[in-house]
Amino acid sequence: MAVLAEQAVSRAQNLINGKWTEPSGKKTVERRNPANSDDVVGVIPLSTREETRAAVDAAQKAFPAWRATPPPLRGKILAKACQVMTDEMEALAAILTREEGKTLNESRGEILRSINVLEFMAGEGRRLIGETLPSELPKNFAYTVKQPLGVVAVITPWNFPVAIPVWKIAPALVAGNTVVFKPATITSFTAMKVVEIFEQAGVPAGVLNLVIGSGSEVGDELMQHPAVKAVSFTGSNEIGSALYEQGAKRLMKCQCEMGGKNPVVVLEDADLDLAVASTVQGAFGSTGQRCTATSRAVVVDAIADEFVKRVKASAEKIVVGNGAEAGVTMGPSVDQGQFKTVLDYLEIGKQEGARLVLGGARLTGGKYDKGMFAAPTIFDHVKPNMRIAQEEIFGPVLSVIRVKDFEEALDVANGVVYGLSSSIYTQDISRVFEFADRIETGITHINSATTGGEAHIPFGGMKGTGVGLREQGTVAVDFFTELKAVYVDYTGRKRESNIY
Ligand code: NAP
Repeated sequence: MAVLAEQAVSRAQNLINGKWTEPSGKKTVERRNPANSDDVVGVIPLSTREETRAAVDAAQKAFPAWRATPPPLRGKILAKACQVMTDEMEALAAILTREEGKTLNESRGEILRSINVLEFMAGEGRRLIGETLPSELPKNFAYTVKQPLGVVAVITPWNFPVAIPVWKIAPALVAGNTVVFKPATITSFTAMKVVEIFEQAGVPAGVLNLVIGSGSEVGDELMQHPAVKAVSFTGSNEIGSALYEQGAKRLMKCQCEMGGKNPVVVLEDADLDLAVASTVQGAFGSTGQRCTATSRAVVVDAIADEFVKRVKASAEKIVVGNGAEAGVTMGPSVDQGQFKTVLDYLEIGKQEGARLVLGGARLTGGKYDKGMFAAPTIFDHVKPNMRIAQEEIFGPVLSVIRVKDFEEALDVANGVVYGLSSSIYTQDISRVFEFADRIETGITHINSATTGGEAHIPFGGMKGTGVGLREQGTVAVDFFTELKAVYVDYTGRKRESNIY
């Protein structure tokens, strides 16, 4: 199976039970490069519910043998996937940039993160550790063991179409589950390449299945299918909360990682150059289409004018364009829907009375007319209750909120429904610990950007951002396993205690 083979227009394919076949649904989606509408990436036929059921069936049949495969051997396959992905880095980066729009360097960064996750999860095959525990009774040995769930569904968004699938599929597989993977439709070709890498690494037929198609058919079928024991979802709050409700009705294990509205707090004693550089990187990197993007800068009045001046000067240097071209530092919005959302918020910000400092419109003329390019945008004097300060925009838009002091900054930073990431710039060690203690986000950074994370460190949000266990790190495996407690009584006599 060659992804984006040298044919006129590529057509997306499923991998079900080890066979690549074109989805049989009548509906198709034509995917064009978001930086250049003349470039047709391929045609994506959508799968039916029947094909989804066939994938679940294949995963169910493959489960007993995969469960019986010793975990270190499962880990070795992930280690091989790590090697294959390293070898395929440039090919994968090219597909990712062409389909999603991020710059080639950003694509390479995402792939590197995925390689790190594979490397870490390969080792988890040797560390599926339980506990031995002292018993209340004599001659009674108690221990716990982690066991796989069975067939699990992985449903992912378009913004990190390599890393997010990898950081769900790798722990699911190493724990002994079999997987049905439904990627975001608009990044189907990237998903195919990711699955092809697992296949080349030696994941057996049926253990990892790819079903390309809409959320309302393929995704819904996975949520309803009684053989699917768990779903790991990343995406919007709207879809995630609906899936959580749907899963709860049949007591399905659900992990939902959703939106963010991540603040950077800049105090008067901050290293301003550092704060500015990280804010620009966090706000405009990946075109602001990161769940951890810096969308709010909460800045104390004393330094706000200088901060805004320097952020503006730095953001003006961003080179917007086709991410495949050398020198470009920011790509387009991913598709028409997302682009419209961003442009709508630019108008909302103006109407709400925020002061526009930079950008505020789509870029036009020449190559810009063929793509979906919004200008890097900064709004100043944003009030905490404005929609641009409360709602996830998922575009290159930074809202600067001015506050009088640290306490007000903390209130503003926490005053949203989301709780994914945050950061603070200060030299004051007491403020650092105070912030780390009281900020309501699952991840926080001290003197570095809100974005970024490491493969072995838990990732995810609190409040409206996330429900279920964290991803990455050893905790990722916990979501994909049941914990069984075992008592071994070697007295040969009836127990004295009957309290349980
Ligand atoms: P989305 O619209 O919620 O879609 C996510 C996935 O759900 C897609 O595969 C989608 O399929 C599928 N889906 C849609 N309706 C469904 C249904 N009824 N049943 C089952 N699946 C369904 O999100 P998105 O626009 O792709 O991604 C952007 C969002 O992801 C942002 O809010 C961002 O913050 C969030 N995100 C969060 C994290 C995190 O770790 N917290 C990381 C990255 C992104 P189709 O694409 O085929 O519709």
